[in-house]
Amino acid sequence: MKNLAAKYGREMLVLRSSKKDNTVINIKGCAIGGEEIVVVAGPCAVENEEILKETAFKVRGSGAVILRAGAYKPRTSPYSFQGLGESGLKILAKIGEEMNMPVVTEVMDTEDIPLVAEYADILQVGARNMHNFALLRKLGRIDKPVVLKRGLSATIEEWLLAAEYILAGGNEKVILCERGIRTSEPWTRNTLDLSAVALVKELSHLPVLVDPSHATGIRNLVMPMARAAVAAGADGIMVEVHPNPDKALSDGEQSLTPRDFSLMMRDLEEIARACRRRLR
Ligand code: PEP
Ligand code: MN
Repeated sequence: MKNLAAKYGREMLVLRSSKKDNTVINIKGCAIGGEEIVVVAGPCAVENEEILKETAFKVRGSGAVILRAGAYKPRTSPYSFQGLGESGLKILAKIGEEMNMPVVTEVMDTEDIPLVAEYADILQVGARNMHNFALLRKLGRIDKPVVLKRGLSATIEEWLLAAEYILAGGNEKVILCERGIRTSEPWTRNTLDLSAVALVKELSHLPVLVDPSHATGIRNLVMPMARAAVAAGADGIMVEVHPNPDKALSDGEQSLTPRDFSLMMRDLEEIARACRRRLR
């Protein structure tokens, strides 16, 4: 059912039928959704200032323009590292400023929105919260861009309607992020749905990122899936990088080393060119 407007009997802000031109979101001079492909990189979580600084320095040197790192981590087990909370936000904002990179970080709880918005340039809704309509509604009333990850098992329709919640509240700065969905396949963490990227680019005017790290859960698959994502028409890639993945407090198995990241960037540059685009 691609015709959401007919199904719900009204125009939908998320659809191209309500806005023909691509939405381009400007964040501190960095445009997402335009001709240039943006690369967002950083560790899964803020672990400490030194590691974040080293990671930021290295990924920026290879061409990443936005820094990612979680301060509130949605971990499957309550006993796993949950993130540093506000002190993590402070470190993230400080390093972002020092490196001149806008920063993106997850907000898990409606109560934390004002705090996270104080430190972050972009707020992220994680896959587990894509159906948290109270959170989406509140994010519709802030004046900051929101990265909306596709839910663990969300259909494209559910994902677009989640974006509609934010848009309907008056916040037009929504960036979609495909991060893989659950399928019957157990050998990868998730199944990267690249056809969703091409389809959503057709159906919606919003920018679409791809996160090949959470989509696969396996370091060696990140590079090939990032290449494929650019070829499929993604407006950017969000990828986890850690200077010492074996020691990472979360998601080390899927984190690229800075060296792998720089190799990936070289490939993405060429693929972007073949798709008549370029890396920012
Ligand atoms: C993340 O990007 O840090 C994350 C937890 O991703 P997801 O919500 O897609 O699992
Ligand atoms: Mn992670």
